[in-house]
Amino acid sequence: MNKLKEAGKASAEALALAKSIIKPGKSILEAAEEIERSIKSKGFMLAFPVNLSINEKAAHFTPETDDQSVLSDKDVVKVDLGARKDTLLTDCAITIDLSNKNAKLVEATNEALESAISVVKAGRQLRDIGREIDAVASKHGFKPIKNLGGHGISAADLHADFFIPNFDNGDNTELKEGQVIAIEPFLTNGRGQVEDSTFTAIFQKNSPCITRSNEARMVSAFIDENFLTYPFATRWLSRELQELDDFKIRRGIAELINSGAIEAFPGLVEKGRGMVAQAEHSLLVQEDGCEIITK
Ligand code: MN
Ligand code: MN
Repeated sequence: MNKLKEAGKASAEALALAKSIIKPGKSILEAAEEIERSIKSKGFMLAFPVNLSINEKAAHFTPETDDQSVLSDKDVVKVDLGARKDTLLTDCAITIDLSNKNAKLVEATNEALESAISVVKAGRQLRDIGREIDAVASKHGFKPIKNLGGHGISAADLHADFFIPNFDNGDNTELKEGQVIAIEPFLTNGRGQVEDSTFTAIFQKNSPCITRSNEARMVSAFIDENFLTYPFATRWLSRELQELDDFKIRRGIAELINSGAIEAFPGLVEKGRGMVAQAEHSLLVQEDGCEIITK
């Protein structure tokens, strides 16, 4: 538990750093690298590549090495990250509004998270947490994104056991004392659903495989050695696997996807192209309440 809390603290500090460097004119690639370095400098691994998802982009966006884009004063930036120590994982997120036009959406999302956290305790049903989030969203005239939500967190598995809805989905599964969970409301002024985009920069290797090409074999061995079965970014491979150029890395990954060894996490975009805000904490469920780990 102490190790997990240390990982939680490092995650919260990385979000604080993100807040100070996410500004108009900032390179998205540099921001991602600085945020990830701050977690590593404290002796932790990344639980997954830092997600920097902007405006109608909800989740699973992380820059590639050739990303030239810079943030503008119209952007609403979701920063989602986690630290890992051995098999212990944390997960948390904030939204930074550079537009100064979406304060209501961001505040409503933060309030939805607080409100959901306030009802967490052993015996609480998952649907109750969703109902809480939905109620705050509607009170402020927004919709929760229904096909995104929180989750249980177990050793070596960030999306374990159960899904925690952002609305009352009827799931009466009860939380148990000692469980670690993540709650993550996503609110929008759009349709309240996300869909896959064509952009994919986050992957995870789930199973061993037989490789045909040299590049697939090298990519596979490098992942096994460095990222294990945790999510990684193509950016990490281009930076660290010096023997292959980006084209060959992409080809290697493609072969591993085709063989079923690698899972791809495409960027998720709001279906009505609405603005999206997110807030997330990892929590420890207790008998009479909960403790926030990522603070
Ligand atoms: Mn999460
Ligand atoms: Mn997250």
